[in-house]
Amino acid sequence: FVLLITTACSSTEKATSPKTAGKLITNDSVPYVGFLLDTLEEERWYKDKQLFEEHIKSLGGQVKTLAANGHDAVQLKQAQLLIEEGVDVLVVVPHNAEEAAKIVELAHENKVKVISYDRLITKSDLDYYISFDNEKVGVLQATEIVKNTSQGKFAYIGGAETDNNAILFRKGAMSVLQPLIDKGDITLIADQYTDEWKPENAEKNMKEALKKSNNQVDAVVAANDGTAGGVISALGTVGLAGKIPVSGQDAELNGIKRIVDGTQTMTVYKPINVIATQAAEMAFKVAKGENPKTDTTINNNKIEVPTILLEPTAVTKETIDSTVVKDGYLSKEDIYGK
Ligand code: BGC
Repeated sequence: FVLLITTACSSTEKATSPKTAGKLITNDSVPYVGFLLDTLEEERWYKDKQLFEEHIKSLGGQVKTLAANGHDAVQLKQAQLLIEEGVDVLVVVPHNAEEAAKIVELAHENKVKVISYDRLITKSDLDYYISFDNEKVGVLQATEIVKNTSQGKFAYIGGAETDNNAILFRKGAMSVLQPLIDKGDITLIADQYTDEWKPENAEKNMKEALKKSNNQVDAVVAANDGTAGGVISALGTVGLAGKIPVSGQDAELNGIKRIVDGTQTMTVYKPINVIATQAAEMAFKVAKGENPKTDTTINNNKIEVPTILLEPTAVTKETIDSTVVKDGYLSKEDIYGK
């Protein structure tokens, strides 16, 4: 679901048309919601798209989703396009936390409010934010790994540094690891982010870490199931897959299957249905000019943003059935096969 942009993109270009002039596909009396995704490359974002769209429609609204395939200029252009079409609100998963401030600026010039979805847009006058408790995600990952192996050589393989969540996941994980590092129980043989969250980059980084440490590694905290997949491939090349604990996140089918197989220790389940539903309700209210209810505020390095933070859950082999299967997030058949 990719919009192909053939015209040149200038980040200073502005959508100048008045809000009502460009309504191409919309019925003015029906709230129109624009959903801007960074990528559809990971399994979870398909779920976000599908469930968010379903919920907006069930509320009686119209929705259009565009994915930027990891390009900031494309994401800004897509925002402009939806603003020109007359969206009443933009819901954005930013590719780059800071760059996306331009989307907020453009939207506000056109009297459109912006909700940051899952990832925070920093240094902007963002209107609302909805996500999971991302520091807690990191705490859950490191806690589960430490339960397994509390001493030795650890690697931290993070997410994309341009994603504010990746910073929070690391912060949460380090709040668990640092006291053990200070005590001398743990040494970090690698501590790095993964460019664009790509599994192949995580694999490359893990291979380098293995080379440098002479394959001496006792545990890996990987930031999500994609990076965990890359890490486990790298471990496989030196016979360590399944021998040392590795964390993940997203409860992707492949991650859960690796947990069943024993090469991955845990994942973090974030019920996409809950964030998509609550974000849709929030967007619908904002589109109608109402103020949605929020629970807290988060500082985005410019303002305190009204925020809803949802709970993540750790999943291990023992709890697959009582979490993701029970919720209908993944089916037993998909996980265990026939
Ligand atoms: C999300 C994760 C996802 C990652 C890569 C993060 O911002 O919170 O669920 O795995 O991006 O797309």
